[in-house]
Amino acid sequence: MSSLSIRDIQKSYGALKVLHGIDVDLEDGGFLVLLGPSGCGKSTLLNIIAGLDEPSSGDIAIGDRSVTALPPKDRNIAMVFQSYALYPTMSVARNIGFGLEMRGVPEQQRRAEIQKAAEMLQIGHLLDRLPANLSGGQRQRVAMGRAIVRSPDLFLFDEPLSNLDAKLRVEMRTEIKRLHERLGTTIVYVTHDQIEAMTLATKVAVMKGGYVQQLADPRTIYERPANMFVAGFIGSPA
Ligand code: ADP
Ligand code: MG
Repeated sequence: MSSLSIRDIQKSYGALKVLHGIDVDLEDGGFLVLLGPSGCGKSTLLNIIAGLDEPSSGDIAIGDRSVTALPPKDRNIAMVFQSYALYPTMSVARNIGFGLEMRGVPEQQRRAEIQKAAEMLQIGHLLDRLPANLSGGQRQRVAMGRAIVRSPDLFLFDEPLSNLDAKLRVEMRTEIKRLHERLGTTIVYVTHDQIEAMTLATKVAVMKGGYVQQLADPRTIYERPANMFVAGFIGSPA
């Protein structure tokens, strides 16, 4: 069970209130995109789900388990950022398997898991390379491989494609969609790119100024935007 429930999440930094009571439910295996302009609170919400930041109030549950009081390592979540944060002196294989190594998974099993993830991401031939000798797209695949081998209940992506050029963005978008279909893992994905949101999501939360303006499937958002802001941001014909 890895449905996600975000219940009345509020967040202030000092006097600045950045999340005003966010409520979102996502079904097991769903793909939620948090979509909105820069500064609307997407990363803050994602970090709260990951446990990297604390809400001022509210509750996060994964499956039927509240995780609000748990540290990140006990939430069984894997996060992929736009900066790949790979270890520069470690091979691709070791980068992918490092989380398993830390957990004490034996080498032979580790190798099998690394191989499986690398093949799924079409980087099986790059396992001995160092990150410096990879392209941006290949690095992003390594970062995804590192997330996959941990078999998380929940994948979190924060603008993972925004450092890539337009062609690679389309390619990696397809890759992420394929991964979701293949693994069936529940995903929360942050972007300010409408096309990414519309092509990847089963559910979109359009955000502005710390509020969710509309929560619906992509088609409903496009055909029946809740207000002028959503219509303008999505570019729907309404
Ligand atoms: P987004 O990811 O949608 O661009 P963020 O969640 O990063 O937005 O930021 C939302 C708001 O919270 C912004 O106004 C930002 O400046 C502010 N903010 C984010 N993190 C902090 C922090 N650690 N301290 C103070 N303000 C912050
Ligand atoms: Mg952000």
